[in-house]
Amino acid sequence: MPEYPEVEAYLAALRVKTEGQVLRAIRLKSLFLVRTVDPPLASVHGKRVVGLERIGKRIVFAFEDEHFLVLHLMVTGRLRWRKPGAGLPGKAGLAAFDFDEGSLILTEASTQKRASLHLVVGRAALAAHDPGGIEPLECSVDEFRAALQGAKHTVKRALTSPKLVSGIGNWASDEILWEARLSPFKRVRDLSDDDWPILFEAIRATLTVWRERYVAAALESFPEKVSAFHPEMAVHGRFGEPCPRCGKPVQRIAFATKHESNYCARCQTGGKLLADRALSRLLKDDWPKTLEELE
Ligand SMILES: [Zn+2]
Repeated sequence: MPEYPEVEAYLAALRVKTEGQVLRAIRLKSLFLVRTVDPPLASVHGKRVVGLERIGKRIVFAFEDEHFLVLHLMVTGRLRWRKPGAGLPGKAGLAAFDFDEGSLILTEASTQKRASLHLVVGRAALAAHDPGGIEPLECSVDEFRAALQGAKHTVKRALTSPKLVSGIGNWASDEILWEARLSPFKRVRDLSDDDWPILFEAIRATLTVWRERYVAAALESFPEKVSAFHPEMAVHGRFGEPCPRCGKPVQRIAFATKHESNYCARCQTGGKLLADRALSRLLKDDWPKTLEELE
């Protein structure tokens, strides 16, 4: 799922391509994509894009007259920029947004279509789409601690809960916890006074580094290869490879079919490995069963 750094990269690219441009039409292949009926989607046809914004992991197109299109890509939704009027690709194509200079194509690779598009009018209606998580780059460590410390979750779950923290999903939380040398199994209530600023700084450093990397690439060319993996990541997607800090093999926790979370046992859990069965006993319902639960 595109997280804060990738969403910021999309926003940077979309600002270049669409800000100030008139949206001529939206071509829909899947009616299911659009979750609002009033006002009709066609009411943004002919309106100018006045800004691009982010709410959590959602992309917001702001139009004239306070019309907002709220796009949630979910796990496999992606965007491409093509020539004006370009056709929608076979199975994956969901919608095209036609501008004079090009067409923005929305695809979703999985058979289960989860990406969503809402059209709302007015700032109050837009605010209703905010899950409420704190923006870690726009708060102090004290505000961050106050927002999280009542959580009964593990740190991993708290970081990826959009009601608690904005924009962080599976990969960024893996990288943040490695950076902070914190176990993903640690409970929020067990974080010490020393842990909080370390965690907070790890979040800010990780999100900033990856945002800068992805935004710079997006300004070179429209981000078409957005994925949760990158060779420069420390632990995420690197099961069995050496930890870049200590050289020990990166461990994994499987959850949901095909998905996993990664950590370094030496750096983060005092060398402790937890088998999946032991883990599920320990965490009971605290571990996400599906990637969608991270949203
Ligand atoms: Zn390590």
